[in-house]
Amino acid sequence: MAIVISGKEVSAKVRADVKKECDELKAKGIAPGLAVIIVGDDPASRVYVNNKKKACADVGFVSEEYALPAETTQEELMALIDKLNSRPEINGILCQLPLPKHLDEKAVINAISPIKDVDAFHPSNVGRIMIGDYHFLPCTPAGVMELIHYAGIDVSGKSCVVIGRSNIVGKPMAMLLMHENGTVTVCHTKTKNTAELCRSADIIIASVGRPKFLTADMVKEGAVVIDVGINRDENGKLCGDVDYEPVAAKASYITPVPGGVGPMTIAMLMKNTLMAAKIQNGLA
Ligand code: NAP
Repeated sequence: MAIVISGKEVSAKVRADVKKECDELKAKGIAPGLAVIIVGDDPASRVYVNNKKKACADVGFVSEEYALPAETTQEELMALIDKLNSRPEINGILCQLPLPKHLDEKAVINAISPIKDVDAFHPSNVGRIMIGDYHFLPCTPAGVMELIHYAGIDVSGKSCVVIGRSNIVGKPMAMLLMHENGTVTVCHTKTKNTAELCRSADIIIASVGRPKFLTADMVKEGAVVIDVGINRDENGKLCGDVDYEPVAAKASYITPVPGGVGPMTIAMLMKNTLMAAKIQNGLA
């Protein structure tokens, strides 16, 4: 039976470390600040933004929320980002995605100053990750790496399969595993033999967005299985991309949903915001 890597436990540790460093910064007169922009009234986005605000309060950051109406224009949104870019007490800026259809997400990502881009979505930060010279890592893949490190799993020389190639999870995930000397295969909808590739993997990262996609017959005995998915099953119950019980019976390590990668994403956002505050105050 697999050892369960608890994201609740690891994220609590990351947040406690951030809080400690935040207290030290405050003693020097620096209060890290995060601005969170939400446009429209998507209920899932609202939950994410509330959780981010609460996490900021818990670690001692100042947070500002900008809840804009769904009909906000591109110009209005860009003007707000410009203003936040120029305010020294705001160290991190994030705009909750997805945005309403009439807004240009790419332009918004490009407008956030790379040094305040705590989601690490700006092309300049993406490029820096590619060459292994970065300040910020995208929160979800960084959270996965934190779980892997915490469990004492050595990626070097391992055969890794990442299922999914999105810009926010799959692609940077593959890059981070490669930086740690994993041999990485990325699967997507055009991959012909995903099951076979998974069966030969030492480490599988499931970031597909399909309930219980990774079944036990796709996993070799003793593999490490990390489940990034957040889905609802046929009964409306929260579940990951992994068919948990049967896969846990074969894997050496596994992450649950909920309580696995999910809590890590916000913890890593706090870590990035702390880093942004340190950089902008000449301390990193
Ligand atoms: P996404 O943008 O929809 O990407 C899904 C990826 O999976 C795509 O690359 C897609 O391939 C691939 N895929 C879909 N069906 C497949 C199949 N049958 N075989 C192989 N590959 C397949 O999703 P995402 O944003 O990366 O998120 C993935 C999951 O992680 C979602 O459940 C999301 O809710 C969750 N998530 C969790 C967190 C967290 O904090 N835990 C954060 C972000 C996302 P194509 O490129 O060919 O379409």
